[in-house]
Amino acid sequence: MRLKDGNIYISCENFPAGAVTCFSTRLGGKSACGIEGMSPDPWKGQPIETVIANCRVLGEAAGFNPEDMYITSQVHGDNIKRVSKEERGTGLFLPVKVDADALITDEPNVALTIRTADCTPILIYDPVRRAIGAAHAGHKGTALDIAGKTVRRLAEEYGSNPQDMHAAIGPCISKCCFETDIDVPEAMRSVLGDAAESAIAEKVTPEKGLKYFVDLKAINRMLLMRAGIKSENIEISEHCTYCESDLFWSHRRMGALRGSLAAVIMLV
Ligand SMILES: [Zn+2]
Repeated sequence: MRLKDGNIYISCENFPAGAVTCFSTRLGGKSACGIEGMSPDPWKGQPIETVIANCRVLGEAAGFNPEDMYITSQVHGDNIKRVSKEERGTGLFLPVKVDADALITDEPNVALTIRTADCTPILIYDPVRRAIGAAHAGHKGTALDIAGKTVRRLAEEYGSNPQDMHAAIGPCISKCCFETDIDVPEAMRSVLGDAAESAIAEKVTPEKGLKYFVDLKAINRMLLMRAGIKSENIEISEHCTYCESDLFWSHRRMGALRGSLAAVIMLV
């Protein structure tokens, strides 16, 4: 993955041709009032015209139109929405009709968009059957295996073979900063069993007692591989949204007064 166009987005350099990909940063947008920069998020209190203007800046750089985007409400669940081209513009120009934390399509020029600010964004591309997916995997979605479920749904709906798929795990809060209580490691063990241990560290301090540090990128990589995607077809961003708060929005660092990052994938 590589930062491009004045660092306003990261593209998946290793994906085969035929899909536009974009993980936005917090740079380059027109938002104001405490969330200066790029926030392509209709739910963060900005005028919709500003959100659309941000999407246009991002799309001009990465290669999609705001009119082609599909943005819906996310609830840390595992509903997967199959999106058709008639639904393009949802979230910006058309009302939202369904909650979904993963989106799939096999139609070109449908820009599936996931919003995050510490949660893990995942983009999936099958260049053979020409199908794509985007998933929002915070620790709750990760524990629900939304990554693996999206892979399986692509196979069911479009006949995709996971062996043909490429996946990209985007910028999120990384193991260095994702400090949790016991509930998160236990949720990871429940979805992955012993394999989760390699992605969990313990740390005891006098101030906080026993805490855990969880690597959601590694867990999601294992879930994608368990669903059949080849190791060499999975790219992982090295960026940490919490560490690099000058470049990314971080809910844990900024709280509610923040923008959102967009992960976008579109067949072309
Ligand atoms: Zn960090």
